[in-house]
Amino acid sequence: MYDAVVIGAGPAGYVSAIKMAHLGLKVAVVEKEHAGGTCTNKGCIPTKALLVSSHMYHEAKNKAKRLGVNVQGVSYDFKAIRSHMQRAINTSRKGVEYLFKKNGIDYVKAEARIEKPGVVRAGDQTLQTRAILIATGSKPTIFPPFDQVEGIWTSDDVFKAEALPESILIVGGGVIGVEMGAFMGMLGAEVHIVEIMDHILPGEDQDIADVVKKSLTAIGVKIYESSKVTKVEKRGEAFVATIETPKETFDLRVSRVLLSVGRRPNIGEDVKELGIAVEKGIVTDDHLRTSVEGIYAAGDVRAKIMLAHVGFHEGIVVAYNIKGQEKKVDLSVVPSVIYTSPEVSSVGIREKDMDGERHGVAKFPVAASGRAAAMGEREGFAKVIYEKDTGRVVGFSMVGPFASELVMEAAVAIKHGLTVEQLASTIHPHPTISETLLGAFEQAEGKAIHL
Ligand code: NAD
Repeated sequence: MYDAVVIGAGPAGYVSAIKMAHLGLKVAVVEKEHAGGTCTNKGCIPTKALLVSSHMYHEAKNKAKRLGVNVQGVSYDFKAIRSHMQRAINTSRKGVEYLFKKNGIDYVKAEARIEKPGVVRAGDQTLQTRAILIATGSKPTIFPPFDQVEGIWTSDDVFKAEALPESILIVGGGVIGVEMGAFMGMLGAEVHIVEIMDHILPGEDQDIADVVKKSLTAIGVKIYESSKVTKVEKRGEAFVATIETPKETFDLRVSRVLLSVGRRPNIGEDVKELGIAVEKGIVTDDHLRTSVEGIYAAGDVRAKIMLAHVGFHEGIVVAYNIKGQEKKVDLSVVPSVIYTSPEVSSVGIREKDMDGERHGVAKFPVAASGRAAAMGEREGFAKVIYEKDTGRVVGFSMVGPFASELVMEAAVAIKHGLTVEQLASTIHPHPTISETLLGAFEQAEGKAIHL
């Protein structure tokens, strides 16, 4: 008899299982594909590996000379790039499996089916358990006309590609669209991105998206905003798509089409048969209990914020609740990162959502930073949103070098109610890009020294 059976070894499931083992519970994890889930196998890890290769190639070709480094005959080997990606996947996958072993977790490679609360069928085994965690993740959304045409890629297919497409139409200029567009554009593919909203990365502020747009345009990526694909068909080996922009409607011929218009939760038939409440995703309370006693849900399957680190947090919350130590999910401060060049990060409220009466906004440019000058970089800025009466930081966005790492200073500030004054009076090391944040905090207080 297990204390818990976890279905799905992605970020929510594997972290929950490890945390439960740390809390002294007897746990089994059932996974039908690979340990690590989407993030390790078809998401965060392979994308970042690909982007490291394309970025290095692009810098060697376009930046090295300016910094006094002569690099001759720069080229890339797509097969070797894929091998690098595969090594990163394998390391991450094996890491999860190692942690299962180290923590005495039973890892069952099979498709799971919940027969009833307390009973999970996994291949030819029947697992009896006190609690069940559904952490079955999500899959790429695909809808008409794209589901009618054979060979349309989703993000799952990109990682299987044997060669870089000569040309590609990316439908959806969200996080996957711009990261994949950046990867393929840097390697020299002809990339077209069609975004239905009025700017790419519609979840972020327009000024942030504009910097990304400028950098993508500089590598030759064509971006069509407030636009849609009304028709797509396969002609021979190629695809012909009809694109409707505010100015014109035209046909585009490309060798590949990638659909990146969001993801939807993986909800099994067993969930439906058991009568577990489902809206967009599985419905839970703030302890992540579903409507059926003894069954919990965490991660993308809840269709709340589909990010690996949200899955990590939710998995830990479930572990404490199964142990009997009450914990509530808290998604009030969730940093997000987009791995373009330059990188983007945000946490808390965006400028577009702020209340002009209550909130102030201050910005500081990357170009005013000594470290950025030394790195030969000048694009981007840090932006802080704060409460006018208390000075407390409530939002932060950045586009620029190391934005993915620097967002945590703001996340800690928001989570713990720190003010721009407290942050500005904290000595920041010089010369670093963290001084871009310092500049924004100083600017919020009055006037930044270096502006
Ligand atoms: P997304 O929601 O980030 O972007 C989808 C984009 O498609 C949006 O900009 C939307 O306006 C656009 N769109 C929708 N329908 C369209 C249509 N018919 N024509 C043109 N554009 C259309 O989703 P995604 O990029 O597919 O990513 C899926 C999930 O994976 C997201 O939750 C994302 O946060 C996550 N993810 C995160 C990272 C990261 O954290 N760096 C990286 C990749 C994916």
